[in-house]
Amino acid sequence: MITSKPVCVTGASGFIAAHIVRELLLEGYSVRGTVRKSPKNYPFLLSLPGAAERLELVEADLLGEGAYDKAVAGCEVVMHTASPYVINVKNPQTDLVDPAVNGTETVLDSCVKSGSVKRVIFTSSIAAITDEPDSRKVFTEKDWNTMSSLDRNPYHYSKTLAERAAWDFIMRKRPIFDLVAINPFIVIGPSLGPSLNTSNQIIRDIMTGVYPGIMDINWGFVDVRDVAKAHLLAMQTDSASGRYLCSGEAMHMRELVAHLASSGFDRYSLPKVDLSGKVGTLLMKLLSFTQPRNTGTYIRTNIGQTMRYDNSKIKRELGLSFIPVKESIIDAVKDMVKWGHLPPKNNNK
Ligand code: NDP
Repeated sequence: MITSKPVCVTGASGFIAAHIVRELLLEGYSVRGTVRKSPKNYPFLLSLPGAAERLELVEADLLGEGAYDKAVAGCEVVMHTASPYVINVKNPQTDLVDPAVNGTETVLDSCVKSGSVKRVIFTSSIAAITDEPDSRKVFTEKDWNTMSSLDRNPYHYSKTLAERAAWDFIMRKRPIFDLVAINPFIVIGPSLGPSLNTSNQIIRDIMTGVYPGIMDINWGFVDVRDVAKAHLLAMQTDSASGRYLCSGEAMHMRELVAHLASSGFDRYSLPKVDLSGKVGTLLMKLLSFTQPRNTGTYIRTNIGQTMRYDNSKIKRELGLSFIPVKESIIDAVKDMVKWGHLPPKNNNK
């Protein structure tokens, strides 16, 4: 679907959304982005190519009733990315679940009221598919996370409930618009704004001595530029439907550390001790109890198993190809140095 109306992007200030906004502007679309503070606080968005002519920023908060009515009015496509992406929170219900779920329903209600919206593209997550690897299976779009709760991986829980709420909304209200969900794994790469995203932070932590050793864990990574492209393709492909697992290759922490070391980043505090055997995994599970509560549950549910997933649907139906993960990792590191989230390598030791 090609639209001449503004495309609404919720949470435009976010790591992923800013790339979506950039890509939309580059392709000639008009964009209406929602932000939480006054637009003048987002010079990195206002200075994007094409922004002066075709980007409008409006204020909206996921917890405000009718908060998105103005933002989606007259739009045919809405990309709903806004949702808190934080692992450790004080109150998982109010800090994660309420904004994720109520916010999704609020945005969809506004889309119904608009009478103009034809497609909503919802930024879901691998978190809505599973919160732990299972060495016996390959995850696909058919899988749903049934294990998370307020006590176990609450961020994953919030994303699962939010995506379920979106599909339930479509079933119950049968609106005139359809819904497409994009389910990325860990999104990394260069940032358009100054904030450090939770996912790039994983790489920074690996490089700054946060991890006592190399754990038996593997992550799926996807470049933020590919996730933005996936959202545009989901808009432009009329036949797009359902969920799209969006991830490039999975990489073991051992391979990631070796890649950083061999790419000239060996002067950072990369983990050296190999704790990826059975004894190391047991030790790491014990050590995880010394970590903030939600980091602890994440480690305990994710180490010691191999994560495998099938990304063929998004390649086949949307024609997305992925930037090689090794390239994204290096781009993420260079970008974190640029923004001051990592010291320049030669000054580190
Ligand atoms: P960011 O933290 O960079 O962006 C989150 C966005 O949501 C920000 O714009 C933030 O606004 C907004 N937001 C948070 N709470 C509220 C609220 N109460 N009202 C209005 N806006 C709010 O994260 P990402 O860009 O990484 O995440 C974007 C989406 O992608 C999220 O839905 C996330 O769950 C999903 N995702 C992310 C992955 C990743 O690895 N990064 C992987 C899979 C899915 P503000 O700037 O004001 O805080």
